[in-house]
Amino acid sequence: MHPSAYFSTWNGLPPFGAAELLLLLLSLVAGLATEGVIRLHGTCSRRKPQSRDWTNLLLIPVVVQIIWVGAAFFSLGLIRMVNNGSSFELIFSVLAFGGAPCIITWIAFSMSCVSYAAWICWQLFSALLHSWAIWLVWIGLHIACHLNGWEALLAAMPLVIPLVAFDVNQAMPNSAETFQACYPWRRASGERVIVFYSGYSGPKNRHEIERIVVGAEETLCKVYALLGQEALKFKVMMFLCRDQEQHRKIFSRNHDASAPMASGYAHHDSVSLVYGPWREICRTTAHEFCHIVRRHRISPELLGILDEGLSDYVEEKLFPGGPVPAITLVPNLQVIANTSVFFEWMYTKNPALRGSYCYRHAHAFPDYLISRYGMPQYLELCRVTGASKEPTEGTKLAAAIEQIYGMPITQMEKLWRAAWPGTWTTGQTKLAFEPPDEPHPEGPSF
Ligand SMILES: [Zn+2]
Repeated sequence: MHPSAYFSTWNGLPPFGAAELLLLLLSLVAGLATEGVIRLHGTCSRRKPQSRDWTNLLLIPVVVQIIWVGAAFFSLGLIRMVNNGSSFELIFSVLAFGGAPCIITWIAFSMSCVSYAAWICWQLFSALLHSWAIWLVWIGLHIACHLNGWEALLAAMPLVIPLVAFDVNQAMPNSAETFQACYPWRRASGERVIVFYSGYSGPKNRHEIERIVVGAEETLCKVYALLGQEALKFKVMMFLCRDQEQHRKIFSRNHDASAPMASGYAHHDSVSLVYGPWREICRTTAHEFCHIVRRHRISPELLGILDEGLSDYVEEKLFPGGPVPAITLVPNLQVIANTSVFFEWMYTKNPALRGSYCYRHAHAFPDYLISRYGMPQYLELCRVTGASKEPTEGTKLAAAIEQIYGMPITQMEKLWRAAWPGTWTTGQTKLAFEPPDEPHPEGPSF
């Protein structure tokens, strides 16, 4: 049946209740599909899954209602300008039935996360269904509200504008929901890891990528063994970017192109770094894997000094030969426990402190604690700190140290610093601070 014939049957009696029910049901399914995708391991790497939080399930139906009811009101106003007696119910029904295909694209969105090809297919499907919806709304208003073509087009605008805006937004580069859908990666799967790499300037031969898969598998097992943790239930995804530029574009959380980048990142269930032969990337891989295992097995959230310290410790244990742990910072542990202090270097192009100083300092702390009190105690410290209800990150660390090691943080820090007399010299000679930057032109410095 031609849709115009279908719409012509609405003349006179719009099934308003049916339209409202359809909209509600479709938007509930869309909310459920979106929530499902976020909860599925390995399909949603760009967003952090929020446990016990069903925001999308409620948010999407509410947003759908607001868009459609709002559009129906605006359309009603526009139609009234041509002195037409169409009712709100009639217009809402036309917009609901005509616009329904758009919500179907939101439901199908969950399938676009799997790969770049699926993402491109979804974009085409979405553009097609949105065009169809726009045409249905137009022809519906044209027939049901007895408007001529131009009047119907004008009356359709309140719904068409948000729909087109949605399409344009989705066509933006980097709007895919998952890392694997962002780029046409090639992939090589192992038993515990999946390696994604760029086909254009990646490995010169297949052996190199096979070496990386084998190396990553072994490294992940060693991380489990070192931390005494059970293997994760999902395959850890490892994204190897063509160059630093691609790494920044797809994975970096800071948008300042001149701010320093870390050599690798750990995301919810994946890691990303720049491609290189195994011997060049093995240390970063071990470091980032440790973050993933920590997140899923020890503590979902953890402050920088404990987390980066542990990752650096694991990295050095598995692949010795990196920068030695050293006490390089003057501020005490309770101050640098704060994320804004510890990661300050990552968010400004003029960091007063290099990231490497913070990392070597952070490395020295678990190195001391683990060699003196053992790994289980340290992991317990991470657990207690991560779960702490203390008001600041500094007080979380202080309270956890007191609980686990039975002494105040100040005393622990004294013992720790005293155990490292040699490294102070290293800190003074090799790690010279950068010359002070130019004063910031826009405001006073504090
Ligand atoms: Zn790290």
